Formats: sequence, structure tokens, C-alpha cells
Amino acid sequence: MVHAGDRYQKRPTIGVLVDWLDNGYQSTVLKGVISEAQANDINVFCFVGRGLEIPDRFADNANFVYNLPVPENVDGLLIFAGNLGYYNSASVVDLCHRYEPLPVVCLGQEIEGVANVVVDNEIGSYEAVNHLITEHGIHRIVYAKGPEGHLEAEQRYLGYLRALHENGIDFDPDLIVSCGFLYAEGKKCARRLLDERRVEFEAVVAASDLLAIGIAGILQERGYRIPEDIAVIGFDDLDVAAAFTPPLATVHQPKSRQGAEGVRLLLSKIRGDSTPDRVDLPTRLMVRRSCGCLSPWITGVEDQVQTDGIANLDDLRRPLPDTILSHITTPIRTSFVKLPASWPSDLLHSFVDSIRDNTSVHFLSTFNRLLDEVIAQGGKISEWQGVISAVRQVMLPALKDDQTIRRAENLFHQARVMISESTFQVQVNKEASSEEQNVLIRQLVFELVSTLHLNEQMMILSEHLPFLGIREGYLALFEDKRWDSEWSRLVMAYTPDNKLIAADEGIRFPTHQLIAADYRVTAASTSYVVLPIFLQDEQIGLLILDLCFESLSAYEIVRAVTSSAIKSEWLYRELQSYSDDLKARVQNVTAELVRSKERAETILDNSPDAILLLDSSRFIETGNSTCETILGCQSNLLAGKHPLSLVANESKDALAMALSQLSESHEPIRLEVIANHRSGHSFDAEIALAPITESGKFNGAVCMIRDITALKDLERVKDALLSTAAHELRTPLTTIRGFTEILLTRELVQDRRTRYLQYINNQSTHLGGLVDNLLDVARIQAGRGLDMSFEPVDIGEVIRMVAQSYDVAGSGHTFKLDNIDDGLRVNGDPLRLDQVVRNLVSNAIKYSPRGGTVTIRIDERDSRAEVSVRDEGIGMSPEVQAHLFERFYRADRSNSAVSGVGLGLTICKQIVEKHGGDIWAESEPGKGSTFTFSIPTVQRE
Ligand code: ADP
Repeated sequence: MVHAGDRYQKRPTIGVLVDWLDNGYQSTVLKGVISEAQANDINVFCFVGRGLEIPDRFADNANFVYNLPVPENVDGLLIFAGNLGYYNSASVVDLCHRYEPLPVVCLGQEIEGVANVVVDNEIGSYEAVNHLITEHGIHRIVYAKGPEGHLEAEQRYLGYLRALHENGIDFDPDLIVSCGFLYAEGKKCARRLLDERRVEFEAVVAASDLLAIGIAGILQERGYRIPEDIAVIGFDDLDVAAAFTPPLATVHQPKSRQGAEGVRLLLSKIRGDSTPDRVDLPTRLMVRRSCGCLSPWITGVEDQVQTDGIANLDDLRRPLPDTILSHITTPIRTSFVKLPASWPSDLLHSFVDSIRDNTSVHFLSTFNRLLDEVIAQGGKISEWQGVISAVRQVMLPALKDDQTIRRAENLFHQARVMISESTFQVQVNKEASSEEQNVLIRQLVFELVSTLHLNEQMMILSEHLPFLGIREGYLALFEDKRWDSEWSRLVMAYTPDNKLIAADEGIRFPTHQLIAADYRVTAASTSYVVLPIFLQDEQIGLLILDLCFESLSAYEIVRAVTSSAIKSEWLYRELQSYSDDLKARVQNVTAELVRSKERAETILDNSPDAILLLDSSRFIETGNSTCETILGCQSNLLAGKHPLSLVANESKDALAMALSQLSESHEPIRLEVIANHRSGHSFDAEIALAPITESGKFNGAVCMIRDITALKDLERVKDALLSTAAHELRTPLTTIRGFTEILLTRELVQDRRTRYLQYINNQSTHLGGLVDNLLDVARIQAGRGLDMSFEPVDIGEVIRMVAQSYDVAGSGHTFKLDNIDDGLRVNGDPLRLDQVVRNLVSNAIKYSPRGGTVTIRIDERDSRAEVSVRDEGIGMSPEVQAHLFERFYRADRSNSAVSGVGLGLTICKQIVEKHGGDIWAESEPGKGSTFTFSIPTVQRE
């Protein structure tokens, strides 16, 4: 691989700093630069920015491109100082000194400390003004002096002042207008003179052709004839000057030569030759119709030339003296056109041959070849009218007889027709190619802006630009989006043989290489245009294209469209990633919402209460699934109903009042109602209403309906217990109190006294049992459970003891013990088991008021002892059986009922379950009941 540095050593590379490409002045100077560069086989990088400190808001950002030339990429710099300093000539001075140690040559403005190619501006305008005064007798001459403070403009102004002074004409400040160099500024100047100052004047000399044309246009609009009423002279000798009607007199400055001299001076500096730091170029007045003169090509026909030593045609066929040759070449000012050095003598010799052979072929074909070459190199054909005049001046003294002279005049005439035809052809071709170019540029722009994908944009560039004659192109993006990024990425490269399109990755290369070293075409010297890609204040990258003079107007458009296409692509990507991000966030939030909704629904649906959401008009909007259990109605069927429809008539008023109070006070409310189940039955319910407010306004409510039947029942049971317990306690107490009173107040026989004491003892035992039961239940309810200590217990023995105690008590029932003698043992608490059996036997007696047999039986089944107590008493309905083991449950709560508090079976169930067993009842009303419990046995030995 060849290192970039080595290559530069082989073929020098120069940088050119220029503010604009397709401007008449810059493009012509540039032509001189490029043709000289090619002649010397060197590369050129044209860094195209804007004028320094240009007042446009973002255009100044283009000037980062002037920071790029460094010794790594160029060997020297040619700076269009006059153009870059258009807005601020001081800043260009700083710029030119910034590149040390690189050799720098400046054009258009002389800068101290660097090398300069200087045009004699002062003499040019002096000649123009002097010409008007001395040749045309004009004294009141307006001077349009160009931008204030611009160095070249000031030099030209000095020429004006000197000419006035030398001719003894007074200076009139009213005749001086200062403005820019451009066409529109000229128009402004003309209006200022005609409408504001209303000054009298006979001529206008302007510091540039564009300025002169702008002024002349307005003068013509106002009816002034040029030059009859007002003569006009410009400066620069642009093509547009010659094309103006009338043709504009101007000061010729050697533009392309300026470029060529600049390159030559720079090369000698690069090589370290000891050349002077300054090259001076002359200017020359070009009189034309607008100053009141005829074109010198017309007037020059009459001029006599010194043609010593040439007396006849033979003299002209020999090698010609330099004076004659240089006379022939003088009209040619376009220095970039390269013709063979022998062309003047070739032309003269071919003329002599044509005269001698009496044929136009020799001369016309030679002249035709020359014209073709000039056209091919983009030279000025009109200059060749001057050449023909010069040839004629040289020839005429050598032509002796009338016939030869006539033959010669015919040849001159044919040559001039040939020039006219070629001018016309060139004009038509120019128009056609500029039209074609416009179409190509339009197509390119249209296609570029219709895609947002960088890859496609670059594909379009690489396909279209070659049609515009731009054969090589490179697009690099700054890695840090700033010109001083150390690295760039080459994302597009096209050459006649290669193409790279890689928007995503690209080739990473050091920014100072400008074109990634491996991709650059190295075969021939090439001139590149380095265009800054930027948008507003963003620095994006560089578009580097080879320089094609036919398409100069395309570069700025391509630069601008590429910048905005890349930026649009970035924005599009940003927008997409933003929208993807947004989408992901929305998805997350939605998922979170769904989760929390599901959680809320789970909580709501698992709530034991029906929960309804009421709207602002207090109608039901929705409800949880518990509604179905509590109200017998699915929540969707409730939607749209009024909550009043859910309560019984007697509760409607209370609920209606609560609802209206809720919307006014915004305070939660609780009330108890009788609610309706859809099946028709009513139940006790508590309703809790909580308002929903939004910005202080009532916007609905949450209505919670709780079934409180069980609570109410419990209350009722408790009420019943209180009366039952009071009654149950009072009966034995009354008995105890009665007998103790008797014992205390009377003398009784021993027998009776013993019996009374027996009564008292029985009743207090009964009382004790009652109190024990209440304590047990209290303990169960408090969650402390019953005290128990387990041991192997002979269950038969327990039953025997209980039965015996009741037998002794003499209840009047017959006791039958069945299958209880085989010593079956269980693991249990003997006292608690006694309590269970005693309870069941006591109930069997209590609830068989007409006596009968109480049968107690043990069965051993699956390692369990099943103990059943059967009576022949009142029995129980299935309804009673369903509630038997509930606390305080009693089938008969009347005063006439058998005594009891409804706790015995509750305690039995607790005890049996603690033994790992079950208890149940079987019964039929009027036929007696059987209560059975089963508990695990201890394994027999
Ligand atoms: P109490 O007997 O103190 O009322 P229990 O818990 O022992 O309390 O019994 C609860 C209810 O079960 C009794 O009120 C009674 O209605 C019914 N009951 C219990 N045992 C029998 C039985 N052997 N025959 C008929 N009904 C019974």
C-alpha cells in the first residue's frame, strides 16, 4: 500500500480556498489554476466555503472547510483572498497566516507576509476614467466603487481620483456611490443616483462589470441611451460584458493568467526556489461601444503595422520575426487554452500557401483546426476576430496585385464567417448543454429528496453525477459530527472502476486524509472540489467530487441537497427510534396497566363484598364478580340499574337519602338495609358508600354491599343466650337459695336435712357444669383451645362410669350398654372423653322426655373406636341437624323448652376433633336420635 504522504511527495498537491465556484470571476481564475496544475501534473483540492464573516445566518458554518488543509493533505495553498475577504478584509489576513509552515499564495488582495499575485487595479480604472475625459470630453463621471474597505475596490478608486486630478477636474462626492460588486447592488446605486441624489452625470465607471451592467440596465429602463446620453465602463472583462447591448467597455484583468501565475508561484515556493514573493499582472482598458468607441477589431482593420523585412509572399513563407508572431497572438488573452507554439507561423504559412495555390483549403483548414481546439478547451472564439485582423495587417503590405488582394480579402471574409458560425454553434451547444445539465440536476435533486435512506441517496449520487461529467465522488461523515473529528467514515465512493456504498459502517479513516487513502484514484493528477456538508450549525461531513468545469453550477446544489438529504435521513432515523422507544414504553405501561387492572380485579372479585361502581348520576356502571354470590346477579346485568332496585321497599328511603347526601357532602356513608337477592329472598346488608371526586366535583361513587346475615344471626343468638343463660342460672340458684333458707331457719330431721343438702349439691354441680361449659366456649372462641393431656384410655370404662352415674341419678330411663367390654383403648384425655359421653347421654335423656331406652355402643372400625348414643326421644328435623354443632344453637328456644344453652355439642365437636376424630348425628323427628363419634384407637398389644 502506498502511504498518502509518499504519494504527495511524488505528485504535489495544492489546496485552493475559494468562496464560490460558478461565479464568472472565480471560475475563470480557477480555469487558469487547473490548466496550470494539469500542465505540471499536480493534484488540486478546492476547498469551497463562503466569504469570511458572511452575514447570512448559517452560511458562515460552511467555512469550517477552510480549517481542513494541513501539511498532511496539501503542500501549499492558493487563497482567493479578494473573494474570501469580501465582507471582512481583515479576517482574511488572519486566515492566510494560519497555515504556516505551508507556503501560501494569495490572489485578488495583497497580504503582507505571504506571496501574492497582484493585478494593477489602479492603472485599470485610471485608464478608463482618463479615456472618458481625454477621448470623449466627459467630465461628470460617476464612480461606483464597490464594497467599502475592500482592498481591490479601494485601489481601483484611487485610479479614478488620480485621473480626475491629473486632468484638473474637481472631485464631487455626490458622484461617488459605494456598494458591493454585484448586479443587484448596481441597480440600487443607479436608483440612489437618479431618485435620491438627482445628480447630473455623463458617464459611469464601475469597479466591476456586474455593477456596471446593473447600473446600465436601470439607466436604459429610464430612457437614457448608452453611450449617447451616458457612457458606461466596467471592470473585470467578464463574458457578460462583451455580451451586453451595447457591448460594455471594461478593464481587462488577466483572470485565468492570475490563476496560472498563482500556481507557478506556489510551486516554486513549494520547491523552495528563491523567487520573488510577488507577481504583478497588468490590466488593460477594452474600449467598446458603451464608452462611445468602436471595437478595436473593427477600428484595428485600418491600423498599420511595422512589417519590416517583409516585402512579398516569399518573405512570409520563411521563419517569421518575433514582432510579427507576437502581433498575431496579442488578441488572445485566454491563457488557459494551450495551442502548439507554432500556431501563428502555421497560420501565416497556410495563408501564403492558399494565395499561391489559389485555393482556400490550406488557410481555412488550418484556421478551422485552431478554432476547434479553442472550442474544445473552452476558449473565447471572439478573440479570433482580432487574430484575423492581425493576420490581415501583416499580410496586406506583402500583397501586390489587385487579384491577389481580392483573393486574400475573400479568405479573411471566409475566416470571419467561420468565426461567426462557430460562435453561433458554441452558443447553441452551450444552451443545449446547460439545458441538459438543468434536466440532469433537476432529476438528481428530485430523486435525492424522494428517499429517506442514506444508502439509496448515495446510490443516486453515484449514478447521476457521472452524467454531469463528475467522474469521481467521495462522501465522508465526521465521526463526532464536527469538522475536527479525528476520524471520519467514508460512506460513499465512486470512481470509473469502483463503487462503495456503505451508510451503516463505511471505511474509517483519519479526517485529514480527506479521501480515505485506499480509495483514492492515483493514476493521473486530479482536481477535486471539497464541499462542506452542513445544515444550519451542524457539521456533517465532506463531499469530495472531481472538478468538471461544464457542471460548475451543479456543485452547490448537490452539496445543499446532499446535506439536507443526510439530515432528513438522520431525523427520520431519530424519529423512528423515538417512535420505537415510545411504542416500547406504551407497551410496558399498557402491560403494567393491564397487570394492575387484573390485580385490582382479582382483589375486587375475591372480596367477600359486592362492590359496585356508580356513575356521576348514581347509576351502576360495573361491579365485581362477588355481586353474583351476594345479589344473585352478574355484574354486567347490573350495569345501568339504580342501586335502589337492589334493596327491599323498607330500605329504599334510607338508601335514597344516603345517595343524595353523598353527592353533596362528599363524605363516606354507611347504612344497614334489607337487600334483595335475585332469587327473591331478602337479607341483612350493610352498604358503604364512598364518593369519587374529580377537581372537587362529584363524579361517581363506590358502593360496597356486605351480607351481614351471619352477624345479625349471631347478635340474635347472643341475645337469646343472655336470656337463656339468665334463666338457666336462676333455676338452680333459686333452688339453692330456697333450701339453704330452710336449713338456716328450721330445725330439720337428719334425713330431710340430708336430702335438702343433696338437692343443693346437685344444683351447684349443675351450676358448675354450666359455668365450665361457658368457660370452655370462651376459651375456644379466644383461640386458646381446650387443655388436654393424652394417655391410653379404656373407652369402655369411661362409658360405664357415665352410665352408672345417670343410672344412680334415677332419670327413669333404661340404660343399655352394647359391646363395651373388650378393653378397647384410645389415645385421649379421660376427663374430656368423659365430658363428651356425659353430654351425649345427658342430651339423650333431656330430649326423650317420655323415657325409653338409651343405648350406648362401641364399634371398632378401621383402627377407630365408634361410640354411639341412641335415644328414643323427640328426634330432630334435617334443618335442626344442619345447625346442631353451632355455638348457642338450640332447636327450641321457648320458655317451655328443656333447659340448656346450646354449647354442649359445640364443645363435644371441639374435643373429638382434638382427638383426631369426627362427630355426627342421625335422627328422625319423633323416632329418636343417634349421636356417634369416632376416634383413633391405640394399637392392641
Ligand atoms: P343444649 O342441649 O344445652 O341445648 P346442645 O349443644 O347439647 O345444647 O344441643 C343443641 C341442640 O341440639 C339442643 O338444643 C337440641 O335442640 C338438639 N339436640 C341435642 N341432642 C339431642 C337429642 N338427643 N335429641 C333431640 N335433639 C337434640
